[in-house]
Amino acid sequence: MPLVLEPAAVRALYDEAVDRRWVLPCFCSENLATTEAILAAAADHARETGIRDLPVTVAMTVNYDHRPQARLYTQTRRWQTGLGLFRRSLDVLLDPDGPFADLRVMVHLDHVQPGPDDELLSSDLSGYSSILYDASTRPFDENVRMTADFVEKRRHEIVVEGACDEIVDADGQERNDITSPDRAARFMARTGADLMVANLGTEHRASSTTLTYHGDMARNIRDRVGHRIVLHGTSSVPASQVARLWEDGVAKVNVWTILERDASPVLFDDMVRNAVRVAGVGKVRELSESGWLGPRALDTGSAGALTHFTTAYRQEAVYRSMKETVRGFLALWLPGISRNGP
Ligand SMILES: [Zn+2]
Repeated sequence: MPLVLEPAAVRALYDEAVDRRWVLPCFCSENLATTEAILAAAADHARETGIRDLPVTVAMTVNYDHRPQARLYTQTRRWQTGLGLFRRSLDVLLDPDGPFADLRVMVHLDHVQPGPDDELLSSDLSGYSSILYDASTRPFDENVRMTADFVEKRRHEIVVEGACDEIVDADGQERNDITSPDRAARFMARTGADLMVANLGTEHRASSTTLTYHGDMARNIRDRVGHRIVLHGTSSVPASQVARLWEDGVAKVNVWTILERDASPVLFDDMVRNAVRVAGVGKVRELSESGWLGPRALDTGSAGALTHFTTAYRQEAVYRSMKETVRGFLALWLPGISRNGP
């Protein structure tokens, strides 16, 4: 089916998810291989669970200074080009005759910031399902005022997620305040936002899974605002910590870092094991003689090969790894009916 874009339809899907004890997953993408991995994982999971019209959200940041994904999408480094290709690729991929036609796909604009993203913010947003209007780097009262203003002007056009508190960088030095239930309740009451990103201890762009997600605080927030919490920074905690998010009042989870972080070692491993096919005998001999590769690298083929020196090979390795990661999250957050009964 076509993208779910109408605000009323998007809000209805979030209500349905709460009823069905689902947490709606949202995966960021900055290239076509990632977008396809997300949709292919969702289609496989739909088949396996029998949830034919499975919901999934694909997202992109635009000029977000920590990761401007629309600009990274093409070598032009123009956000308009990247966002346009990303958005149109979804229409093409969701062709009624294609493999993803039954999915209910939403498209989300992530970490859109007043200032760097003013041009986007002043444009027509009706081609997107939801937006994170992110004024969380401003003082709380200013954040509330700006978010409330945006919600009032645009809520007829797009579902709005606000950011109550900043989610900090894994390598940053900034303070990291966990969102309090009082503050969350004030944020939701005063802004009128549909959803709210809370700081629950996770961090962005983490290189490992060593942090603690504060589920107890999430449940306290849930008691005040309902199932309206959005969790970011999931890649910074072990999957076991985010297995019961519905109970915690989390309506939506945004994921990106782990897709890329776990795909690179898979590709690297495969390239090393196929060194000659990837890079040719001359390059592998040079790297062996300088100590970067061991002697076994020279036994990995007789010459460079189309099966291994093409972009298609590199993209497929990344795609397969990302698809597996996405499937793992879908199993956590969109479980099917258990064989032993509901
Ligand atoms: Zn985020």
